[in-house]
Amino acid sequence: SASLTARAIASTEAHSAHNYHPLPVVVASAEGAWMTDVEGRRFLDMLAGYSALNFGHGNRRLIEAAKAQLERVTLTSRAFHHDRFAEFCARLAELCGMEMVLPMNTGAEAVETAVKTARKWGYRVKGVPDGMAKIVVAGNNFHGRTTTIVSFSTDPEARHDFGPYTPGFEIVPYGDLTALDAAMTENTVAVLLEPVQGEAGVLVPPAGYLAGVRELTRRRNVLFVVDEIQSGLGRTGRTFACEHEGVVPDVYVLGKALGGGIVPVSAVVSSAEVLGVFRPGEHGSTFGGNPLACAVALEVIAMLRTGEFQQRAAELGDHLHQELGLLLGGGGVTAVRGRGLWAGVDIAPAHGSGRDVSERLMERGVLVKDTHGATIRIAPPLVIGKEDLDWGLDQLRTVLAG
Ligand code: PLP
Repeated sequence: SASLTARAIASTEAHSAHNYHPLPVVVASAEGAWMTDVEGRRFLDMLAGYSALNFGHGNRRLIEAAKAQLERVTLTSRAFHHDRFAEFCARLAELCGMEMVLPMNTGAEAVETAVKTARKWGYRVKGVPDGMAKIVVAGNNFHGRTTTIVSFSTDPEARHDFGPYTPGFEIVPYGDLTALDAAMTENTVAVLLEPVQGEAGVLVPPAGYLAGVRELTRRRNVLFVVDEIQSGLGRTGRTFACEHEGVVPDVYVLGKALGGGIVPVSAVVSSAEVLGVFRPGEHGSTFGGNPLACAVALEVIAMLRTGEFQQRAAELGDHLHQELGLLLGGGGVTAVRGRGLWAGVDIAPAHGSGRDVSERLMERGVLVKDTHGATIRIAPPLVIGKEDLDWGLDQLRTVLAG
């Protein structure tokens, strides 16, 4: 008879839309950096839900916070106030050095919210003529999957057959300040960027780029909106990836790890001038800012306030990048990029595709994910033990040597 794994995958194939191509492993439970599948095999999670699981699977502090809130109240909608909301907004604003928060659920919703915020700010504060607002974005961006967001994607897979597309976006090459400057007009309301491009393969921009964007946007009265959904909340060794260049944006877009891997929680965080543009009825979400989300996110924020996870990501990240660097040249790796506990590793063609390497790693008990053909992405939970990280790297060395 077919294995539990084969049966689960066959049923998935039959009844789930084929919008993903998962590795053939069926997870049943997880703790810390380890997952166990339906056959009882253990796997080291070196992806961490695309950084949504920065604090690990089954994190006790987060589970306890969620459980306590589950027993009290989980949802009120924003028709009424609830007693975790004010504290959540105040603490998140404080973590960001900002004043106001607009909570949503998924990353894409938060990006949509940032787009709407920037446009409204453009019309109500900057004085852009109605319908003329422009937002400048970068090539190879990944900001989510809604129709507006894929309208400004340069990835044919993400875009094709989903038109008609939303106008109002200008795409310039990532890392190119001259192109960015040339693309801005008096109707530009925002520049929207990932401080490190995650889905593109963990691309770190050239030194000085983010600081240069900050300078250009300030001079031209344009909002600098950073999508820290994947890069933020500890991953790069700082609370925000922007901090590596001493940059404070006008607007943070957050998600993923903000919900502790338990509930979807996202938010736009900014000044009172910017988020103050909204009036009642102009935007919202039934689940955005719900009591369960706030309780979990408050615990996430409290954990980040200690700085311990950022420090861990910085230290383990230095180690990770040192070890990966040794694979360059003869070791089967053509490039390594990233910051903190986050790496994009390009596999030399002789060793197979990123998918091939991911499958061979899976057979050895390590889970990573390929992107754009030749790249594998490494982003373990920040709570991973150094010995486990080293073991995972041993498996990569073995796979590349084989
Ligand atoms: N923005 C960035 C930088 C991301 O990496 C992602 C997801 O990978 C998103 C936005 C979209 O988030 P979600 O999948 O929660 O909609």
